[in-house]
Amino acid sequence: MIETDIIIIGAGPCGLFTVFEAGLLKLRCHLIDALPQAGGQLTEIYPKKPIYDIPGFPEVLAGDLINHLMDQAAPFKPGFTLGERAERFEKTEEGHFIVTTSRGTQHKAPIVAIAGGLGCFEPRKPPIANIVDFEDKGIEYIVRDPEFYRGKRVVISGGGDSALDWSIFLANGVAEHVTLIHRSTSFRGHLDSVQKVMDMSESGAMRLITNAEVVGVAGEGRLNSITVNVDGQEPLQIETDHWLPLFGLSPKLGPLSEWGLNIDKNSIEVNTFDYSTNVPGLYAIGDINTYPGKLKLILCGFHEATLMVQSAFKRIYPNKNLVLKYTTVNGVNGF
Ligand SMILES: Cc1cc2nc3c(=O)[nH]c(=O)nc-3n(C[C@H](O)[C@H](O)[C@H](O)COP(=O)(O)OP(=O)(O)OC[C@H]3O[C@@H](n4cnc5c(N)ncnc54)[C@H](O)[C@@H]3O)c2cc1C
Repeated sequence: MIETDIIIIGAGPCGLFTVFEAGLLKLRCHLIDALPQAGGQLTEIYPKKPIYDIPGFPEVLAGDLINHLMDQAAPFKPGFTLGERAERFEKTEEGHFIVTTSRGTQHKAPIVAIAGGLGCFEPRKPPIANIVDFEDKGIEYIVRDPEFYRGKRVVISGGGDSALDWSIFLANGVAEHVTLIHRSTSFRGHLDSVQKVMDMSESGAMRLITNAEVVGVAGEGRLNSITVNVDGQEPLQIETDHWLPLFGLSPKLGPLSEWGLNIDKNSIEVNTFDYSTNVPGLYAIGDINTYPGKLKLILCGFHEATLMVQSAFKRIYPNKNLVLKYTTVNGVNGF
C-alpha cells in the first residue's frame, strides 16, 4: 500500500504542478497515470509543438514545459505509478481513500485530486475478433521499453510518426527483424522519417509492405503469426514474435465515470471555490472538470491546482492555520 497526502490521478501538466503547490504546504503527493510517462497530452500528442500562452515563457515546446514542471516538482519528491489506470476507489473507516489501479497497485490518502484531462488514452484497436487473446502475449499497443524487443522479430502497423519512428529505432540494431505494414502508400508522419523508412527498406534493413492490412492473428498461448491482406495478392502469412498496431490513442473518461461523481458531458462538475466535487475529499482540476466559464487551458489548470491544495490542507489539518508564504522570500527549500 502506497501512502501519501494527496493521490493525483493524471500526471499531465496540472497534476505535476499540483505536486509543487502541495509541496509548499508540506503535503506529499503520489501520481498515477495510465501512460508509461508523465506529461499528459503535451507528451503524448504534441511534444514538439510550441506553446505561447504560459506566463513568463513567450514560447516553450510542450515537451520542454513538462521537463520544467518535473524539475519544479522534484524537490518535493513525488511518487509515480505509471502505465497503470486508476480503476476504483473505496473509503476507509477513518474517511481516507484507497485507489486501486488496473494492475492492482493500491494507494491510500485523505485526499484525491483527479487531473485526468480528457481521460485515459485508449489504443485504437484493429477489428480482429481474437486480438484480446494475444494482448501482452505478443501484441502491444504502446512501446513501453524498446529493450523488450531486442533480438525479436517485430511487425509494426501504422502510418503515423509513432509507427515510423519505432520502426526506424527498432530496425537500427535492436530487433532481429522489423516489418512495417501500412494500408496506403502515403504516410502521415514527418517527411524525413518517411524517407528514412524508404531508404532502410531499399537497403534491406527493414521490410516495408504498403497497401496492406493485418487481418488475422494466431498462435498457441502467445502470438506466433499474422495474416496480411495485400491489395491484389494472395494473403501473406508472416511469422513474428510481436505485432505492434500503432494506430494512435483516443481519450476516454473510462472508470472515472463510475465513481459516483456529477458528470456533465464527459467532465466532472466542481465548485469553483476550491474545485471540490460532490464527493467530499475528492477534487477535480484541469481539463477534466467543468464549471460555468471553464476554459481548457494549462494556465487555468495551474490556478485550479493552487486553490485546490489550500482546501485540501484545511481538510487534512482542520485546526492548523494556513499562512500564505511567498517562495521569493523563503526559496523552495524553506518550505
Ligand atoms: C494539439 C493541442 C494543442 C494544445 N495547445 C495548447 C496551448 O497552446 N495552450 C494551452 O494552454 N493548452 C493547449 N492545449 C490544451 C492542453 O493540452 C490541456 O489543457 C492540458 O493538457 C490539460 O492538462 P491536464 O493535466 O488537465 O490533462 P492531460 O494533459 O490530458 O493529462 C491527463 C492525464 O491523466 C491520465 N489519466 C486520465 N484518466 C486516468 C485514470 N483513470 N488513471 C490513470 N491516469 C489517467 C491520462 O493518461 C493523462 O496522461 C492543447 C491541446 C492539444 C490537443
